[in-house]
Amino acid sequence: MKLYNTLTRKIEEFKPLSPPLVTLYTCGPTVYDYTHIGHARKYTDDDILKRSLAYLGFKVKHVMNITDVGHLTSDADAGEDKLEKGAKKAGKSVWEVANFFTEFFLKMINCFNIIMPDYLVKATDHIPDMLQLIIKLEQSGYTYETDEAVYFDTSKFSNYGRLSGQKLEEKLKGARKEVYIDPKKKNTTDFALWFKRVGRFKNHSMHWNSPWGDGFPGWHIECSAMSIKYLGQTIDIHTGGTDHIPIHHENEIAQSEAATGKIFVRFWVHHEFLTVEGQKMSKSLDNFYTLDDLQKKGIESLALRYLFLQTHYRKLLNFTWKSAQAAQDAYNKLKEYVLSLRSQGQRTFLSSDKLAQLDKFRDRFRQAVSNDLQIPQAVAIMWEMLKSNIPSQDKLDLLYEFDQVFGLKLNEVQEEKIPEEILDLAQKREEARKRGDFSTSDKLRSQIAEKGYIVEDLEKGFKIKPSPASLR
Ligand SMILES: [Zn+2]
Repeated sequence: MKLYNTLTRKIEEFKPLSPPLVTLYTCGPTVYDYTHIGHARKYTDDDILKRSLAYLGFKVKHVMNITDVGHLTSDADAGEDKLEKGAKKAGKSVWEVANFFTEFFLKMINCFNIIMPDYLVKATDHIPDMLQLIIKLEQSGYTYETDEAVYFDTSKFSNYGRLSGQKLEEKLKGARKEVYIDPKKKNTTDFALWFKRVGRFKNHSMHWNSPWGDGFPGWHIECSAMSIKYLGQTIDIHTGGTDHIPIHHENEIAQSEAATGKIFVRFWVHHEFLTVEGQKMSKSLDNFYTLDDLQKKGIESLALRYLFLQTHYRKLLNFTWKSAQAAQDAYNKLKEYVLSLRSQGQRTFLSSDKLAQLDKFRDRFRQAVSNDLQIPQAVAIMWEMLKSNIPSQDKLDLLYEFDQVFGLKLNEVQEEKIPEEILDLAQKREEARKRGDFSTSDKLRSQIAEKGYIVEDLEKGFKIKPSPASLR
């Protein structure tokens, strides 16, 4: 398999350390607000990577964190704690807020048919592991303590900035003016491993004892602690959004490698963002769409998943309601294909010519998936296969096989149950048509259409199906 590695800025041949095992860590959500479609894309892309690895024969061991403490409003150490802010806004405790939005996140994971990680782990359940790592860093001389926090000294880690390709000095120049800076902080790029419950965090509601007094962990340390704990000191793949490259992931590398002396991550995989109608999602533009907004417009989450499949993970995806509707239409069509292939009965004898065709489709699909996840190409191959002349039962088998990567739940597609009332109207219409009363038959057809169904006349009898509009 070929994968783009942010660390080397090249597409490389991916070989895990201990095949067929692949150790995978994916940065999870900070649970202080609703999961939106931008998050949905990120977690779907993680899922596609994971499914692709499994399809190609690897055995994936996956860890994802839930950040329920320590993430400030800026990824650097400025601003309020996101959880505390969320709690203030909702008038609830931080623990209630964390639970509520974790549940919401899990609902999203389920709706998008994202396979659960082997370990879904909360930061607050791993404070001792983080403390252990910070103590190790302190003993190796990588930290310093101020009145407010314990910091990682980035000037002591010679490889700092390697992932983003920024030299320390450049990064310092480019660094945004922070709202508040600890006056004792030595370098702008230094980051907090542990915050003390003093000053601006005097009333911080989540806090634990530590060798540096009462306080709470910085954001970055959790990922290193949990990755090392569950997957070992060196892992195969770590993913995240491209926004995590310059700060969060750079810091994860620094603290992990300083503590263990080993390479932390062999392949860094980063997902590109999603814009809405050409603009960045923001509260002020009111374009922070969630699952509920999709439902209101009649877009199924799996149709949105289909939309995600059509853009490569390293390309910006511009979400529009028009593209979402087109994805819903395509997904409906795909489901119709499944039903029709299923109804086409018995397996026929496969000629050597058709067998070769089948193998060729599978090979091309495999090639697309293994070539840095060219999923849009894999989708095109699927449609080409469906329109080919190979027998239906073999088409269906291959479609289900492709769906191991796509994750569109095609083998669970069910015929929509037509209500009695509609069947009744359709029967009456059929009778009117038989006796040549076309005016009554037309009236009944529009009545059925108003209720969201279409009647199709067949050579013998008729067929009813939901009109595409009713699926919206
Ligand atoms: Zn992380």
